[in-house]
Amino acid sequence: VPVRHRVALVGAGIGGSFSPALHEREAAALGLDYTYRLLDLDHLPARWTLREAVGEGATGFNVTHPAKQAVLEQLDELSPDARALGAVNTVSVDGDRLIGHNTDHSGFLSGLRHGLPDVRQDRVVVVGAGGAGSAVAYALVVTGAVVAIADADPARSEDLVARLRERFPEATITGLPVERVPAELARADGVVNATPIGMTGHPGRPFDTGALEPRHWVAEVVYRPLSTALLQDARATGCRCLDGGAMLVSQAARTLALLTGTTPDLDRMRRHLSEL
Ligand code: NAD
Repeated sequence: VPVRHRVALVGAGIGGSFSPALHEREAAALGLDYTYRLLDLDHLPARWTLREAVGEGATGFNVTHPAKQAVLEQLDELSPDARALGAVNTVSVDGDRLIGHNTDHSGFLSGLRHGLPDVRQDRVVVVGAGGAGSAVAYALVVTGAVVAIADADPARSEDLVARLRERFPEATITGLPVERVPAELARADGVVNATPIGMTGHPGRPFDTGALEPRHWVAEVVYRPLSTALLQDARATGCRCLDGGAMLVSQAARTLALLTGTTPDLDRMRRHLSEL
């Protein structure tokens, strides 16, 4: 009997998510019996739980804002990475056990390796210390990069720096005032925008792009639109660029792989994204 995969995305304001189409198209290409639906917390009772959805047939979950930390208390087990990050974006179901994972950080890293192979990443600046910035900074620290983290809210960057230092005592991780980002770029190999600045409804640039040089690489987490003002400036400067679609597609591929045991095709998923 073929396995039936019934996956759901849990979060608020997820009506426009690309994930159902990204997952279902790739699953169809892989020959899987796989559906991916939306469970919008705005339309669910406050006491609703993942277990209820499992009772109704769900076989796995993606979890997004604002539930990535809130679901932790419902889980029986955490992968080491999810534990270290304190955030879960994927939940697998094993019998009656719910297991939390995080494919945001591994997704960022595989997107970076796939999209910008061979770039130097000894020193990297991460702008934005929220959910996306935590995953990006964690992934970069794991590779051994020296990471400087800036956030418009210094308490958020200081908190992330403290958490990463505790987990990686050997690593070099520093907090950076946002106004110091251009100066820090003088000694960095690359920079990642992990703020919402550049997305639809949040126009502008997360930092003064005048400090970019052709030797820099620039990565975005913003994927709506795929071409942000930051990436346009970076391309005009001659920088190597990675758009936010890379992380989006790679984390979706990692979740799909984790929940089904198959090997999704990143290039095919990227083509799907460009058609959405
Ligand atoms: P968040 O609210 O958790 O964090 C955003 C952080 O950016 C906050 O700490 C905020 O203080 C900071 N910030 C805002 N403006 C800034 C500025 N000008 N300079 C410095 N810091 C600034 O949000 P999040 O969940 O991390 O999401 C951020 C963006 O990442 C969103 O656009 C989201 O769509 C995108 N995202 C993409 C992926 C992907 O797979 N590509 C995954 C997760 C999130």
